Amino acid sequence: MAAAKSVLISGTGIAGPTLAFWLKAAGFAPTLVERAPALRGGGYVIDFWGLGYDIAARMALEADVQRAGYRIRELRVVDGRGRRVAGFGTRVFSDLTGGRYVTLPRSGLSRLIFERIADDTETIFGDEIVALDERDDHVAVRLLHGGERRFDLVVGADGLHSAVRRLAFGPQAQYEKHLGYVVAAFEAEGYSPRDEDIYVMHCAPGRMLGRVTLRENKTLFLFVFAHEPGAALPDLAAQKALLRATYGDGRWECPQILEALDRAGEVYFDRVSQIRMPRWSKGRVALVGDAAYCVSLLAGQGSALAMLGAYVLAGELARADGDYARAFRNYESFLRAFIDGKQKAAERFATAFAPQTRFGLWFRNQVLNVSALPGLARLMIGRDIVETMKLPQYDWPGR
Ligand SMILES: Cc1cc2nc3c(=O)[nH]c(=O)nc-3n(C[C@H](O)[C@H](O)[C@H](O)COP(=O)(O)OP(=O)(O)OC[C@H]3O[C@@H](n4cnc5c(N)ncnc54)[C@H](O)[C@@H]3O)c2cc1C
Repeated sequence: MAAAKSVLISGTGIAGPTLAFWLKAAGFAPTLVERAPALRGGGYVIDFWGLGYDIAARMALEADVQRAGYRIRELRVVDGRGRRVAGFGTRVFSDLTGGRYVTLPRSGLSRLIFERIADDTETIFGDEIVALDERDDHVAVRLLHGGERRFDLVVGADGLHSAVRRLAFGPQAQYEKHLGYVVAAFEAEGYSPRDEDIYVMHCAPGRMLGRVTLRENKTLFLFVFAHEPGAALPDLAAQKALLRATYGDGRWECPQILEALDRAGEVYFDRVSQIRMPRWSKGRVALVGDAAYCVSLLAGQGSALAMLGAYVLAGELARADGDYARAFRNYESFLRAFIDGKQKAAERFATAFAPQTRFGLWFRNQVLNVSALPGLARLMIGRDIVETMKLPQYDWPGR
C-alpha cells in the first residue's frame, strides 16, 4: 500500500492545528480548511491541565500557555444580594498538578497552537467541505469556494456540529446526546464590580450565571440553563431574547449583565451535548476532538481530549507505515475506554452543575463547601484532576 501523505483537516480550533503539527512531525503534508474567515476569537475560557498540558509542553508551548493563562484563586457562589454562600479556594488544582494548571481563553490556546504551524502549513480560511467522494486511492473533496481537490485522507476536526461527520457518517441527531442545558458566553469591557481572579457565580433552580475577570478591563460572562431546544439554534437576536426571558427575573447582577448582553456584538451560544459514535473513522475519513467524541463543557477537559486525540491519531499514522486503516483502528482502540469514562463522568455531573431544585442547589453548595477542607479537597478533586493515563511515545521522523 502506498504511504498516505496528504491530509485535509477540516477546522482550526484545538484539534485541527494540533493534528497538523504532529502530522508534519510524522512526515505528512496537512492542509487545513476553516469555515470562519480567520482564526476564531472570543468565546469562553477553559481550564487546561493534564494530558493536554503535557502535549502543549511537547510542542514547546508551555511558557506561552503559562503567560497567556490566568490563575483563578477562588470559586465563589453568591446569593441574590451578592453574599458568599459557598465555594472554595482553587489552589488545590495547582498543588495537585505541580503548577501545570491554567485558565485561558479557548481562542488564545487555539492561536498559540496555530502559530506553531502557520508559516509552513497550507490553510484555507473562509471555505468548507461540501462533498466527499472516496475512491480507491484518494478522497475527492469539493470545497464550497475552492472547487475540487484530492487528498489521501480527510479528518474532521470541525467541532460539535462537524460537517465532515454529517457528510461521511450521517446526520448529527444520530450521534448527539443532549444533556439538558444550553450554554452562552460573552465578553464585555469596563464591567464593574470585578473581583480579580475569582470565579463568581449565582444560581437559581435550573440556571447559573457566572463572571470572571480578564485582562484589558474585560469580563467574561457564562450562562448555563436547563432547556430543551429544538433542532435549530436561534440567531443572535433570538439568543439574546431567550437569555433575557430566562434570566430576566433573576437577582444578584442579572439586570446589569443582561444590559451588557444587549450591547454585545458576539455571543457564544450552543446546546450542552455529547457526541457518541460507534466508530470514529470510515474508509479514508476520520474524526477527532469534539467532532468524534465531544464530552461537553461539563467534563472541563474537551480541549485536552481534542489534543490527545490529535496526538494519538498522528502518532498511529506515523507508526502504521501507510496503513491508514490500521492507524485509525489503533487510534480508536487506544482512546475509546478512556473517552467513554470521561463522557459518563460528565453526564453524572450534569445534575450538579445547575441543579433544578432548591434542595439540589443547597446540596450542591454543601458539597462545594466540603471541597474547601484541605484533606477532602485532595481526595474529591484529586480523583478527577490527576490523570492515570500516560501519553504514548512515538517516533517522529519529520522532527
Ligand atoms: C463554555 C465551555 C466551557 C468549556 N470549558 C472547558 C474547559 O474548562 N477545559 C477544556 O479542556 N475544555 C473545555 N470546553 C470544551 C472545549 O472548548 C472543546 O472540547 C474544544 O474546543 C474542542 O476542540 P475541537 O478542535 O474539537 O473543536 P472546536 O474548538 O469547536 O473547533 C472547531 C473548529 O472547526 C470550525 N468549523 C466548524 N464547522 C466547520 C466546517 N463545516 N468547515 C470548516 N471548519 C468548521 C470552527 O469554526 C472551529 O474553528 C468547554 C466548552 C464550552 C462550550
